[in-house]
Amino acid sequence: MPELPDLTVVAEELGRRATGRVVRDASAPTPILVRATPTELEQLQGLTLGAARRRGKFILLPFERDSVEIRVLAVNPMLAGRFWLIPDGSAKVRARTGLRLRFADGGELRYVDREMLGKLYLVAPDELDRIPGWNEMGPDADDPTLTLDAFRQRIRRHPGELKPLLRNPKFVAGIGNAYSDEILWTARLAPFRKRSTLEPDDIDRLYAAMRSVLGDAVGRLRELVPPDIQEQHREFLKVHLRGGEPCPRCGRELRQLGGSEATTFCRTCQPPF
Ligand SMILES: [Zn+2]
Repeated sequence: MPELPDLTVVAEELGRRATGRVVRDASAPTPILVRATPTELEQLQGLTLGAARRRGKFILLPFERDSVEIRVLAVNPMLAGRFWLIPDGSAKVRARTGLRLRFADGGELRYVDREMLGKLYLVAPDELDRIPGWNEMGPDADDPTLTLDAFRQRIRRHPGELKPLLRNPKFVAGIGNAYSDEILWTARLAPFRKRSTLEPDDIDRLYAAMRSVLGDAVGRLRELVPPDIQEQHREFLKVHLRGGEPCPRCGRELRQLGGSEATTFCRTCQPPF
């Protein structure tokens, strides 16, 4: 599942390579993924793609006329959605292609979703709050205004176990299953520990780990991902899905629970309380 670091780097690369390109036409080969009518897609014709940006687990693609945003495509790729930037639009269209944006220069941006779980919303710039959950979204986990002090205040209002807490977009936006494991291991906090058991220095360590893990991952992904934005890189993660391997810090075998939504942790470095 793409998370904040993955989507940050995809947005940056789209910004570099797709900004300023004019839409020749837009279509939805797999219409079920796109919350827009064919007429609404037709209206993108002739508009210019603005700079892509990220919010939470959404990629936002603005469409502009005379540098004014007219429409915004908000894409939540969920489990398996991927963007493809294709230099030659004649390339074969893959199954489960949710959207094709053909540019006047012959290139193309496509959204392909193997699991068909992603959601694409085409809205006016002032209508983003119509997207389910948009208004309730907390600050991005890397938002500069989310200071340690603001984090301490926010976490007080969110009870429960630490792993679901980190993944809750109402608390902080952009963290999923993989990076929550990495953050908790770095902070030396057990995923099943309750927020109410945390001491002030635990909370401070959790905040520091969140910022450093996400920041380091963005740095690594900037080297690994471009130009192939459809590829997801996780090979540098220290613990997530490495159950049975030695903990990189203490050497004890990492524990892993659950299937596709697995949680990986170290019972020595991340004591239950
Ligand atoms: Zn360990």
